[in-house]
Amino acid sequence: MKLEKLVLASNNPGKLRELDAMLAPLGIEVVNQGALGVGEAEEPWPTFVENALAKARHASRETGLPALADDSGLCVDALGGRPGVLSARYAGEPRSDLANNARLIADLHGVADRRAHFYSVIVLVRSADDPQPLIADGEWHGEIVADARGDGGFGYDPHFWVPSLDQTAAELPAELKNTLSHRAAAMRHLLDRLRLLATP
Ligand code: IMP
Repeated sequence: MKLEKLVLASNNPGKLRELDAMLAPLGIEVVNQGALGVGEAEEPWPTFVENALAKARHASRETGLPALADDSGLCVDALGGRPGVLSARYAGEPRSDLANNARLIADLHGVADRRAHFYSVIVLVRSADDPQPLIADGEWHGEIVADARGDGGFGYDPHFWVPSLDQTAAELPAELKNTLSHRAAAMRHLLDRLRLLATP
């Protein structure tokens, strides 16, 4: 599949920064949907993949371009996988990383099992009704710490501690997060699939 231009179906600035950086080396012209006047899609579904597909379809339908969307979230073992697909609005509307983090830490008060993982699924559609979307996913495992550390990244990063590095995701340089993260893993898988399709 040869891609010259695609629209990124997200209005989340943290996520856009990361996806932009990952796509930059590919020589594909990447446009953020906001720059084309595209608003947020509804994402009412119970699975990440359904929501990612809804976002990609919406952006492609509105722009006529191929579209790439990520749906992602934090899944905490002791909370039965929550906040999961509700990660962006765990503490309700209006969406706030600070409020979401406060709720997460309150929910885990006194809980010994701190294991959690980030999950990302990335969907690429060539057109709004593409019957064969490319779909790839990735995970990043760590633990939730009560005290926020670091000021990089976004979302739950200041509370997501990576044991092998003894740093939270918010303490990692952006370039390192972009090689280790759930979104980086999903993007690597997606690019493998794209390369396979491009091979005659
Ligand atoms: P989405 O835009 O509906 O996919 O929501 C993703 C939400 O999951 C974000 O708003 C964050 O709360 C959380 N999230 C996803 N990826 C990350 C990450 O890399 N770091 C921190 N939080 C993340």
